[in-house]
Amino acid sequence: MLVDSHCHLDRLDMDDETLAQTIAFARQRGVEHFLCVAVSVDSFTAMHDRVARFDDVSMSCGVHPLHQDEACDKQTLLEAARHPRVVAIGETGLDYHYSANTKSVQLTSFVDHIDVANTLSKPLIIHTREAKQDTLSLLKAHKADNTQGVLHCFTEDLDMATQAMDLGMYISISGIVTFHSADQLRDVVRHVPLDRLLVETDSPWLAPVPYRGKQNQPGYVREVAEYVADLKGVTLDALASATTDNFYRLFSLAGKA
Ligand SMILES: [Zn+2]
Ligand SMILES: [Zn+2]
Repeated sequence: MLVDSHCHLDRLDMDDETLAQTIAFARQRGVEHFLCVAVSVDSFTAMHDRVARFDDVSMSCGVHPLHQDEACDKQTLLEAARHPRVVAIGETGLDYHYSANTKSVQLTSFVDHIDVANTLSKPLIIHTREAKQDTLSLLKAHKADNTQGVLHCFTEDLDMATQAMDLGMYISISGIVTFHSADQLRDVVRHVPLDRLLVETDSPWLAPVPYRGKQNQPGYVREVAEYVADLKGVTLDALASATTDNFYRLFSLAGKA
């Protein structure tokens, strides 16, 4: 069975009934659990209310680096993240590709998230783009290896993956791996050990081939997993069971709320 380790179910452009059908379709395709990731504390309650009725959906709480206009202080984040359905802190991180101008707020927010993750013993969901040194040095300086976490939708180089794994991080692969231009990422996947890999859709964005350009959905994590299995030279079953074991090892509160 598969897990979609990172999706934004509340951002899918569909009504509640279609959302239920979309999740049912994913289950039919072998997806047994979904981690629905918040992009801000402000929008957490609305996200929670939209997906709480699904027992196989767990949630995160945090402020996305590209949503710093909805930034909040550390105490507010801490209180929101205590919610029993919240199994992880994020997504947080640093994105200098799309938003280098908010660098200083992103840095403060990232440190707050690492501190909250350590306080609550909930792992981090980290978004990192063109911010290798700052991401790694903040994880190190603020002892993120205590809580561990995942570098989600990974697109950076093998050296970054290796250094992050040394800090206890997992590496999550999205549909980007199926894109024609993703040679570097395919090389990273070949080198990351099977016991450190996760798979995700990041839906509604980044639909894998052959759905590229359409709205992504959790059921398509199967295409990502098939592609990654091919790269690793293992069967889909082996890849599914490894990544699903990894998911529950890292997000140990998932499925227990
Ligand atoms: Zn992200
Ligand atoms: Zn995301």
